[in-house]
Amino acid sequence: MLILDVLKLRIYPNQEQEISLAKSFGCSRFVWNFYLNKTNTQYEETGKGMTYCQMAKDLTQLKKLADYEWLQEPTTAVLQQSLKNLESAFKNFFAKRTKFPKFKSKHSKQSIRYPESCSIKNGGLKLPKLGIVKASFSKSVNGKIKSVTVSKTSTDKYFAAILFEATDLNTVKQGKISGIDLGLTSLITVFDGETSYEVDPIKATKKYAKRLRRRQKALSRKVKGSKNRHKAVKVVARVHEKICNTRQDFLHKLSRKLVDENQVIVAENLCIKGLASTKLAKSIHDAAFGVLLNFISYKLEREKGKFIQVDRFFPSSKLCSCCGYKNDLLNLSIREWVCVGCQTRHDRDENASRNLRTEGIRMLSTNTVGHTEFKACGEAVRLIGTRTKK
Ligand SMILES: [Zn+2]
Repeated sequence: MLILDVLKLRIYPNQEQEISLAKSFGCSRFVWNFYLNKTNTQYEETGKGMTYCQMAKDLTQLKKLADYEWLQEPTTAVLQQSLKNLESAFKNFFAKRTKFPKFKSKHSKQSIRYPESCSIKNGGLKLPKLGIVKASFSKSVNGKIKSVTVSKTSTDKYFAAILFEATDLNTVKQGKISGIDLGLTSLITVFDGETSYEVDPIKATKKYAKRLRRRQKALSRKVKGSKNRHKAVKVVARVHEKICNTRQDFLHKLSRKLVDENQVIVAENLCIKGLASTKLAKSIHDAAFGVLLNFISYKLEREKGKFIQVDRFFPSSKLCSCCGYKNDLLNLSIREWVCVGCQTRHDRDENASRNLRTEGIRMLSTNTVGHTEFKACGEAVRLIGTRTKK
């Protein structure tokens, strides 16, 4: 089975490469805008748009004209890719999937796609006409590179998204089965069958909130359209980026750790929207449950593990994980309680993570038609459909 994987990484072009990239961004944007306009005009006149083939042929002729010679500088494939993107933008519009294609501006995020001839060489990323660009790889690309998309953010940082064919090892993942309870005071409480531990949320927003407020205030004082305003916009964008990066980084590391340790992870299927509209909104956003679950889900499935979401109406907090007694008196403010059925003292979140784990194992066990056996801490569970179809 063939799996496509994407590795996104930061790249550090030198001055010469930056200039060359700027030209490629510009040409690619020009080609998009030029043919968007030309297609529109032709459509108005003849009732027919332009196909990719027509645009590509037209572009070849256009490049021969003295006024458009500069279009010869970037690699042809990048400009053709821009036309392919334009064609699919039109197709998506006519299929009612997206809005009408827009003209691209040089002030928004820039990106180009190299559909061929990219490789990894001497620890850097080799791109057509650019040579080797310095890059920091967080993991290795062990498969054929299909394409590379290079982008530049509004804060002048460069990134590359490498799409490659991952070699499918087809092995069953080893590890524990853990239940994860999503909390408010602690980010999550994990129970792995033997021990239970809490992970604290990152306070990214609080740390940067003051800075953000100050920068936004400064921005509001700047005259619209002025150079200083443009600078201030960038400064605010940089703080936003910092908050986002700190959080993403934390959640990536946490999900990586959980996926490394487990073959099955069970979590509650929370209604994030409902929670976020309460006064707890800020800590909910900080906790970023949705993102964490998403990271866990895709990383685990990619490695042939199983991510199970328990229905949010399952009373994970109210059930006693020892005897099954249901404590209906429990509300959000009670952190600890004693079961009237068996006198066990419960920490609310730990008890919930134990219940989620048990429920997940029950759900797996009832799906008995599966073909892959998962074993953890003595429990053997047969899974259905563990091979995820891409
Ligand atoms: Zn009990």
